[in-house]
Amino acid sequence: MTNGAIAVPNEPSRAAGATEGTPVWLITGCSSGLGRALAEHALKRGDRVAVTARDAASVTGLAAAYGDRALALRLDVTDPESVTAAVERCEKEFGRIDVLVNNAGYGYLAAIEEGEDAAVRDLYDTNVHGVVSVLKAVLPGMRARRAGRIVNISSFGGLAAFAATGYYHATKFALEGLSESLAAEVAPLGIAVTIAEPGGLRTQWAGTSMRQSKTLLPDYEQTAGERRSSTLAVSGRQPGDPVRAAAVIAAVVDAEKPPLRLLLGSDALAGARARLDRLRGEIDANEALTTSADREQA
Ligand code: NAP
Repeated sequence: MTNGAIAVPNEPSRAAGATEGTPVWLITGCSSGLGRALAEHALKRGDRVAVTARDAASVTGLAAAYGDRALALRLDVTDPESVTAAVERCEKEFGRIDVLVNNAGYGYLAAIEEGEDAAVRDLYDTNVHGVVSVLKAVLPGMRARRAGRIVNISSFGGLAAFAATGYYHATKFALEGLSESLAAEVAPLGIAVTIAEPGGLRTQWAGTSMRQSKTLLPDYEQTAGERRSSTLAVSGRQPGDPVRAAAVIAAVVDAEKPPLRLLLGSDALAGARARLDRLRGEIDANEALTTSADREQA
């Protein structure tokens, strides 16, 4: 275990019955997958949750089962008005936001040269600018209270990149850098940031949520083309369980010192270790070249 303080979680166990001190979550993208699993986990253990989705109707059923501890709200991360309205409503109903999970996001399949500008901008709008928009709406309240937990859902694909998913990786690499800077800025204000990096989770990510370019260039058939197919083929067969991943994220949120980064799943672990080995190998192999760029010492 790399972080001895955080135990592997069991079933949700906190007693029901909300009080003033009951933690308040706001989670984006709760219509399906990890966001929905997280909302359900937090609600089952007795927390209060703003269960948000682009289409609020997709989360009203879930929220209804938890009475006044759940608030079903429309929140499209690309629509700043909906972001402000949802955050204000949550703070009004529950008094504050203790835990923000920036979960909303999706993938896009295209070789870099095949990428279509409008689709790539849409991807950045959701996966990067959408996160910033929600952060800016939630941070003032957290700063005022000198307390808060933020979980940004990145990906193992925020650490390593492969053919066909270059634009998705670009957004998740951006999220990694942004989150690392944010963590340094808000730690002295009592706010902890965790970057969650799942491997393949069995959700709609590679299924109905996946977008792809219509442009297909034959020269990329053996690289991006093949990986396009294998990415789509893995849908429904991913090794990661969103319900278990949600429990792990909740345990990390509870920790006194949450980690900055948290890989989720054995595939992410193996992939991240291989990535580190490759990176270290490259750094070491070129050490002489690298240091030769220094100015001559006087
Ligand atoms: P999912 O089942 O497709 O869920 C994605 C969620 O994001 C959906 O609820 C979707 O809502 C929402 N969303 C998309 N655009 C949105 C927007 N503009 N505003 C608000 N919500 C929006 O996939 P998932 O696996 O649970 O994805 C959750 C996060 O995990 C994503 O950030 C994803 O990149 C990341 N991740 C997933 C995997 C994996 O293998 N599944 C691996 C690494 C990282 P709609 O129903 O309205 O589209």
